[in-house]
Amino acid sequence: MRILLAEDDIMLGEALQDALIAQGFVVDWLKDGESALSAICSETFDLLMLDLGLPRRSGMDVLAEIRKRDIDIPVLILTARDATSDRIAGLDAGADDYLLKPFDLGELSARIRALLRRRSGRARPEMVHGELRIDPASQHVTYAGRDISLQRREYMLLKELLEHSGEVLTRDKLEASLYGWMDEVESNALEVHIHHLRKKLYPGLIRTVRGVGYMIPAAGN
Ligand code: CA
Repeated sequence: MRILLAEDDIMLGEALQDALIAQGFVVDWLKDGESALSAICSETFDLLMLDLGLPRRSGMDVLAEIRKRDIDIPVLILTARDATSDRIAGLDAGADDYLLKPFDLGELSARIRALLRRRSGRARPEMVHGELRIDPASQHVTYAGRDISLQRREYMLLKELLEHSGEVLTRDKLEASLYGWMDEVESNALEVHIHHLRKKLYPGLIRTVRGVGYMIPAAGN
């Protein structure tokens, strides 16, 4: 899961980035509205966290523009303004939720999980696939009742594949969900993570679709 953070407050941005990375998200961070808008238009993100008071282009303007262009990304507004009219305007302009600064990082993470869950059409917080269970809040993974210990990127990859079970995900899409702009990507890193997941879970869980990418078949298939 890849989040674009548009926030010009350096201290807040750093705290947010650290907290979200610890929650198993990839976070790319931009500090003005113009750059955020061009990133949203050219790359795929699962969520935009948008400060309203941004230099070069306001958050409200960015939001209006991405909805005008029909870009369907969940948007969580971060705002210091506590005027009800700003919140109403943001929601009416196409935001999915908002948080008033200062906010609690635990609450922020819970709202992000709720937004992503709604977006994927899942009502229950846990992700379940046969005997495999993931609790995104605790990042706890079990298989047939047994605790499975995964490295950070193995966990991110498993979550991405499960969120789209039944769909083939290309290498590019998977890599984009695992690595941000600042991360170094080794050429065979994806294969190594897939190999470890198959070993820690079971070999048939993840199918290789030759020349395209990988998939977890829909549960029951
Ligand atoms: Ca600001």
